[in-house]
Amino acid sequence: MPGMMETVLNIGLNDQSVRGLAAQAGNERFAFDSYRRLIQMFGKTVLDIDGEHFAEALDAAKHAKGSTNDLDLDAEDLRKLVETFKEVVVKYAGRPFPQDPREQMDLAVRAVFESWNTERAVIYRRQERIPGDLGTAVTVCSMVFGNLGMDSGTGVAFTRDPASGAQGIYGDYLQNAQGEDVVAGIRNTVPLADLEGIDKRCYDQLLGIMATLEGHYRDLCDIEFTIENGKLWMLQTRVGKRTAAAAFRIATQLVDQGLIGMDEAIQRVTGAQLGQLMFPRFDDSAKRKPIAKGMNASPGAAVGKVVFDSYTAVKWHRSGEQVILVRRETNPDDLNGMIAAAGILTSRGGKTSHAAVVARGMGKTCVCGAEQLDVDTKNRVVRAPGGVIIKEGDVISIDGTSGEVFLGEVPVVASPVVEYFETGLGGLADTGHGADELVAAVDRVMRHADGIRRMSVRANADTPEDAARARRFGAQGIGLCRTEHMFLGERRQLVERLILADTDEEQAAELANLLPLQREDFVGILEAMDGLPVTIRLLDPPLHEFLPDITELSVRVAVAESRGEKREGDLRMLQAVHKLHEQNPMLGLRGVRLGVVIPGLFEMQSRAILEAAAQRIKAGGVPRVEIMVPLVANVQEFETVKQAIIQVARDVRAETGVHLEFLVGTMIELPRAALTADQIAEPAEFFSFGTNDLTQTTWGFSRDDVEAAFFSAYLEKGIFGVSPFESIDVEGVGELVKIAANKGRSKRPQLKLGVCGEHGGDPDSVHFFDHVGLDYVSCSPFRVPIARLESGRSTGAA
Ligand code: PEP
Ligand code: MG
Repeated sequence: MPGMMETVLNIGLNDQSVRGLAAQAGNERFAFDSYRRLIQMFGKTVLDIDGEHFAEALDAAKHAKGSTNDLDLDAEDLRKLVETFKEVVVKYAGRPFPQDPREQMDLAVRAVFESWNTERAVIYRRQERIPGDLGTAVTVCSMVFGNLGMDSGTGVAFTRDPASGAQGIYGDYLQNAQGEDVVAGIRNTVPLADLEGIDKRCYDQLLGIMATLEGHYRDLCDIEFTIENGKLWMLQTRVGKRTAAAAFRIATQLVDQGLIGMDEAIQRVTGAQLGQLMFPRFDDSAKRKPIAKGMNASPGAAVGKVVFDSYTAVKWHRSGEQVILVRRETNPDDLNGMIAAAGILTSRGGKTSHAAVVARGMGKTCVCGAEQLDVDTKNRVVRAPGGVIIKEGDVISIDGTSGEVFLGEVPVVASPVVEYFETGLGGLADTGHGADELVAAVDRVMRHADGIRRMSVRANADTPEDAARARRFGAQGIGLCRTEHMFLGERRQLVERLILADTDEEQAAELANLLPLQREDFVGILEAMDGLPVTIRLLDPPLHEFLPDITELSVRVAVAESRGEKREGDLRMLQAVHKLHEQNPMLGLRGVRLGVVIPGLFEMQSRAILEAAAQRIKAGGVPRVEIMVPLVANVQEFETVKQAIIQVARDVRAETGVHLEFLVGTMIELPRAALTADQIAEPAEFFSFGTNDLTQTTWGFSRDDVEAAFFSAYLEKGIFGVSPFESIDVEGVGELVKIAANKGRSKRPQLKLGVCGEHGGDPDSVHFFDHVGLDYVSCSPFRVPIARLESGRSTGAA
């Protein structure tokens, strides 16, 4: 949890020991600098004093000196500052700064423990899906001082560029400073490479240690070090956060260097990272007005309205706005706003600043250290060169790949990784952004994942265009073709007529009108997926969804009546809408229930599907049709519909003379279906888990309402770490999936099992479905590559 937990430095200094330290070091300035740092950090972290009070006192001291650099403060200035800081403590904490080192230590240790539960740590864990009950240790260790003079300093190093993955010397160094100065962006750091000129011996030693660490971890390491009077000390290292692009590059570079194999390489990247790489980027050819350039801290293209604080960011984001959080520098209290923002822009701090590290970890676009910008959060304006003034609410665009900041909205274009999925390696032009190298890395990783994965990946697609795209993205069939989409648009009128039909004959005639249109839909999809399985689901939603809104219609009829007009059509429609109105449509007349109740509806759809298949066979195609019945709870429901489908198939065979092979199966999306899956598996030739409805009905959560209504409270209170509609609830809904899979296969060992709810494209859920032995996952076309990769990672990790 980098940057989330508290640290307190320089513990043990007090009015007496500061003199001892000064004498021992022969450096009074250093001792008082350390002491003022202790009071400042202790005051903020342990005594909960607003850091601004210390920052203002420090600024005032610098101002009095006519300087903006804290290095210009001498021993006497710092001694005075210590006194001011002590007054700040008394004023805002209502107690003096503790002089007893033991008390300082005890309080500091407690504060570090307690920082496990700060709001930002809780939010971070939720974001990263880290369990809250892991807890923390507290490390106490002796200080080395980077603020002992110009032959001392502190820095951060990466063994590779965390933004691009390129090998080299990356990091920041700050002379005569302590660690928090680097991260907070208080003073501007120098590039790590400059350390060679400052202290060659330490520099060479550091490079040697960096190589050792990388060899040991076989991965990019993020390192913190301090130099005390020309002696190098290593403070900490960890496997470093990196951008999505860097993750792919680094994984394949490590393979090329013989440090890891491809099996391990695919574990070094994630589906979420691949997803980030598929985001669009700014259009280079578009007209745009650059106003500043900062550091490319975390890639991506973000457009949004400028906000200056976390609170506004969250508020505007909640009301549907895209926002860019603009700060001088961020600190851990900005975390909520950073999560809400589309991008983050700071005017201070380097690639290792808080903003950069946190944004990278979250996969959020970030430009930091755009020094030409004067960010005035008090007056809520940014002043840019050339007299440009940006107010809160103005739109800007930030490019986390180049570090550029633009006024207004810059149009975006598809990512090279998406182009690669669309066209394959051959179709790519070198864009000069190192995109070709990235795409080659993605290609290697994807090939390996595809080579080892057990599950296949299908797409949810309802149109020939979506089906074709999904196929280019590597889909091995369609797992869910929702037919309700085919009843919307211009065809709504036909459906309205069907619903208004009074007699069986009228109804049959309306269904006959729909038949050729449906058939055309299916021909197109079967053609796009020729040779691959296509699961077509019979009509699912309640019929009233195809009718006008009841309130609007009532008003129209009432207004007409008050004018003495009589509108026959509207009146009939209103009666129909009333008849079909349901209090709980999600639990009402939908899915298989429609098939049972409305004569001829599912027959018409099945006929359209099978005639389309026959047409494709005659044209030399290989249609592999799977007809799927939705919302089945009970085997008799399924049997009833299946019999009707078989009869239609007999008729179509007789009429077309084409021998048709197809499967009839069901969705498992109700708890009762899962619990009686053994019975249902007798007639059903496949199951596809509808985990959207299964989550809704297992939790009793209305899928259309609860997420907006109260999930934020549930997430805040830790009732769940992630919405069960987003990632499968393994213990509850997952258990039903397991039960149904086992029961189903106990009756029909070769039963084909898949999932077509949203969870089919969620990385964690994909691993779960692999573990329980499903044959495939199905997800939206854009998620197909993600599911391929995660499926391969799951097999590889087993
Ligand atoms: C489901 O319920 O998971 C499903 C795929 O069906 P729909 O989302 O169309 O209800
Ligand atoms: Mg459903």
